[in-house]
Amino acid sequence: MITRDVPSIASSIAQFFKPREKLNGLEYVEKFGYVTGSALSQGKWHTRPYQERWFTWFTDPIVEVFWCMKSARIGWSRAIIVGFQQYHIEYKPSQIMGLFPTDTEIKKYAAEFIDKHYDKNSGAPCCRGLLSPSGSKTGEKNTYDYKVFKNGAVLDLASAATPRFGRMVERSIIFLEEPSAYGAIREGDILKILLKRAATAPDPRICGGGTPVELFDYTHAGYLKGDQQHRYYPFPCCGHYQELTMEKLVKEGQDYGKMRCENCQTPIEHSSLPAMDRHAGWACPLMVEHRRENQVLRNGQVVWESQHAWAAMSYERGAAWPLIAEEYNDALRELRKGNSDPMLTFKNTVEGVPWQDEIVLKIGAEGLAKRRSDDKAGNDYEPNVVPNGVLLITIGVDVQGGDDSLGQGLHIHVWGMGRGEERWHLAQHVIDCDPARKGVIAEMLDPFSTSTWRREDGAELPMTAGAVDDGGHASEEVRRFCAANTGRWIACKGQGTELFRKGTQPVGFKSKRKGGAQAKDLFLYNVGYEPSIVLWKNRLGVDQPGPGYVHLGQGTSDQTLSELFPWKRVRVQGKLTKSGLPVYQWVRPSSARDEAGDCARLAYAAFQYVCTLNNPRHLWDRLEARALASRPGATSTEPSPLLKGLRFG
Ligand SMILES: [Zn+2]
Repeated sequence: MITRDVPSIASSIAQFFKPREKLNGLEYVEKFGYVTGSALSQGKWHTRPYQERWFTWFTDPIVEVFWCMKSARIGWSRAIIVGFQQYHIEYKPSQIMGLFPTDTEIKKYAAEFIDKHYDKNSGAPCCRGLLSPSGSKTGEKNTYDYKVFKNGAVLDLASAATPRFGRMVERSIIFLEEPSAYGAIREGDILKILLKRAATAPDPRICGGGTPVELFDYTHAGYLKGDQQHRYYPFPCCGHYQELTMEKLVKEGQDYGKMRCENCQTPIEHSSLPAMDRHAGWACPLMVEHRRENQVLRNGQVVWESQHAWAAMSYERGAAWPLIAEEYNDALRELRKGNSDPMLTFKNTVEGVPWQDEIVLKIGAEGLAKRRSDDKAGNDYEPNVVPNGVLLITIGVDVQGGDDSLGQGLHIHVWGMGRGEERWHLAQHVIDCDPARKGVIAEMLDPFSTSTWRREDGAELPMTAGAVDDGGHASEEVRRFCAANTGRWIACKGQGTELFRKGTQPVGFKSKRKGGAQAKDLFLYNVGYEPSIVLWKNRLGVDQPGPGYVHLGQGTSDQTLSELFPWKRVRVQGKLTKSGLPVYQWVRPSSARDEAGDCARLAYAAFQYVCTLNNPRHLWDRLEARALASRPGATSTEPSPLLKGLRFG
């Protein structure tokens, strides 16, 4: 139909160009927020009272950065999609950038959230058809990490692991997903770049959120830069305003799973939470002067807001307080057994706080320096003194580089061991040499093979066994040396999931000399990375002399102390256990060295090798008899009959 009715045409054109009503972020999300994805949660978005600031800050003219240090299950990621993102794509078309830990995360995020949210059939109603399907010929560029919308909005997703994240400086609207994972991948201070960006961009809106792992990682540091808001709830018992905390959560007895009021001690149930939340508020518990010195201010006003939000704030049944108490109790039980991962998971993903295993904090260079001077606990022995508890000498050798590479050489640590696997650090040597050159390893290690160590009481202990790291350039030479010294030296590889295991197949190596060792002579021993580090951590964590304790003497250098346990527990990105929990691994920070720790693990592998040759039940008795018989003035020069069963060297 052709209409000649000019006023009607004019009015329909006017309708088309009519500016939309001006909404703040919260009004917008209440009107247009829509959850896409699985059928269960699909539908109109409803903002919980504790989430309201997540939507009002970005239309607040003062705030430039909003940071949320959070647990799982509080709806943050979804809130970013329906709020911050949808607002800047659909309502106020802008150029947005999202920063992710890795490219894999971007692909997953784009497929699960962006493509579904803007799908022309099943997307959020106001967003349907905004995004051209990829590969369409309409002219818009649309890839998994760069999307141009029909209204001109641009969504650019970059990985912190590639230099592309530098494009951040071209954007004013930025969101960061899981910042804790950035640091492990990339050095360089992303927060500094953000701050600079916030100061120079026109109308910046930067939003960061994630689950912290470690103290002062990006998530935690970003939170500390802000005003650090906590949520205060009026408890229904007496109206007293207070935080929800793990301390208040009753973890046993008849009030199990309730929050105990700090004012009148009344236990409150999870079902009271929605009513409490309606009258709750965010506030900064920090003292005003403390806030001033730490915070990012412009014209005296806070421009970097931050909140801590954790699972107890969630209405979800899966995050009900009794379930949180149960998860905590499970994690505590595991922690007492020596497995700290479940507690790390709990602290990070339920409490939303960074956490470090207490043992790891204690066994850093500083803690070990204290131990070294603690003579009451049998430390602080003079260099070259072998305390009387030692019965067995083993050596760990870490091989670095070769073929004239930088930092090449041998790191050699001598360890003494006694009953109950109590250990004494006896000596460290760093030899600058080319281990890949023919004969060098033998030249350097032969003197150790024939070494004898005199104990304080005069007993003489021969070096019994040593383990050499097989990795790297020099593995050919390592194997040749170990094959020529079977029964005393073993070649070890950091692989497998077991603490110590002999390889199933002999390994080959080129034997250049006639009559030299043959391939069949040599087996590699696998030293599992995870189990050997965990065992070493737990042993260093023993704080009373006796079984398992690790002694340090005056001869243990500061460098050695810093290398004994440099590893950190970090989350493996994009990997979850079958039950959906994070996976962690031990990682050496790039600025740290770990040779002494590796040698300690190798020396322990040498001890385990000795155990495979001797019945461990009688091992210590036999070693004791040998040590006593070797003392000057021992009644018999004949070795004790007990010694007959002992094999070494
Ligand atoms: Zn009360």
